[in-house]
Amino acid sequence: MTLLRHTPAEETARREALTVNPAKTCQPIGAMYAALGIHRCLPHSHGSQGCCAYHRSTLSRHYKEPAMAGTSSFTEGSSVFGGQSNLLAAIENIFTLYDPDVIAVHTTCLSETIGDDIPQIAEAAADKGLIPEGKRVIHCNTPSYVGAHTTGFSNMTKAMVDYFAEAKADEKAAGRVNLIPGWVEPADIAELKRLVALMGLDCITFPDTSGVLDAPLTGAHEMYPGGGTTVDELTAAGDSAHTIALGPICSGAAAKALQAKCNVPQTTLPLPIGLHATDRFVMKLREFNGGHVPAEIAAERGRLLDLITDMHQYFYGKTAALWGDPDQLVSLSELLMSVDMLPKYVVTGTPGKKFIKRMGEVLGDRAHDCRVEQGSCADMFMMHQWIKADPAKVDLLIGNTYGKYIARDEDIPFVRHGFPILDRIGHQHMPTVGYRGAIRLLEQILNAFLDRQDRDAPEASFELTM
Ligand code: SF4
Repeated sequence: MTLLRHTPAEETARREALTVNPAKTCQPIGAMYAALGIHRCLPHSHGSQGCCAYHRSTLSRHYKEPAMAGTSSFTEGSSVFGGQSNLLAAIENIFTLYDPDVIAVHTTCLSETIGDDIPQIAEAAADKGLIPEGKRVIHCNTPSYVGAHTTGFSNMTKAMVDYFAEAKADEKAAGRVNLIPGWVEPADIAELKRLVALMGLDCITFPDTSGVLDAPLTGAHEMYPGGGTTVDELTAAGDSAHTIALGPICSGAAAKALQAKCNVPQTTLPLPIGLHATDRFVMKLREFNGGHVPAEIAAERGRLLDLITDMHQYFYGKTAALWGDPDQLVSLSELLMSVDMLPKYVVTGTPGKKFIKRMGEVLGDRAHDCRVEQGSCADMFMMHQWIKADPAKVDLLIGNTYGKYIARDEDIPFVRHGFPILDRIGHQHMPTVGYRGAIRLLEQILNAFLDRQDRDAPEASFELTM
């Protein structure tokens, strides 16, 4: 029996105002994830309990970790008269009971519709003495009827610059870069920091969820795990020599804000997923360390090249359907193209400029063989229709857990990647960025193909060695 049995094989009329199984999720989830990347920060959802419960549970199910957050717990009264009194009470209670260094407030659809002014409420809290000495309340707006979880992530990351970064020193700190890693896994952030350290550079990474959402089990509950970017580091980001922002959708706005506020030059690069994107990242770092690439990084690159060469026969000519976040999709597509696979169908529900253009650059002269769509109607339903209508279907699906229904119905191998992954583990611990991450990703893709070949092979061609 098929689970998505109502998806017609023929493409229905182009939709303008209906999304079916969106390829995105809601803005505050991104703001909450980014805020957890500040050391000793408690994210706070200014809205109803239901929103906050959904956002926390989605993060907890993906990271298999508790995602701490407060809520203004709107009732009918707050919905009519505004949520100021709820937020004032929340700020007082949170600092009294949970003692964070920072409360990072994000809004929801409801508080945005009411029009609550968070900076004004935070000012009122300060006037009433509800914010202890040295503690901070920051905010960003995350109306979820526009944008996506990536927009919320971008807004909260930019808020870190707006509230904390300062240009204090007469000269920028030579040899120190800011790294804005974008929405990647905690293990990816740890891997990026490892590469920067190997290049001999000091680095301020923000937001940094490594050591927060991949914290070890110690037997003791820690409200604030050891990881995350400290307020002092966020302040000092204004004196770094350069900012490298990874992924224009998630990190570009913060890097530009830091340049405008503190005169820190910035470079926005694609997420370093795959050989070429990692090359660009390493080459950019090389500009700040005297032009040196250590042997360890060169060896990792060589191992990736070795894998691609050895296994090219299994990648060559295969097609894939991808869904998820624009920054991920562009780099994933480039990775596939580099091993002679074709990202035949690509959808993202995240709005934003230049995605289609960026995809066109990556696909090059194969663009006319692919379908790429963006926006609220570029959903899983649309992609399923494309796959169903295609006699050749595709050889592989790559995306978050929501693709498992299409994978089952169409009997197509499936590699889970992106957010959220609700039914597997490993993604928060195994990086997919850098050369080592590309090896991990290609291994997952290759194993999906080889498992399928083993499953379908007639006895006469069931091979021990592949
Ligand atoms: S879409 Fe709006 S109402 Fe729904 S969970 Fe997200 S913030 Fe809350």
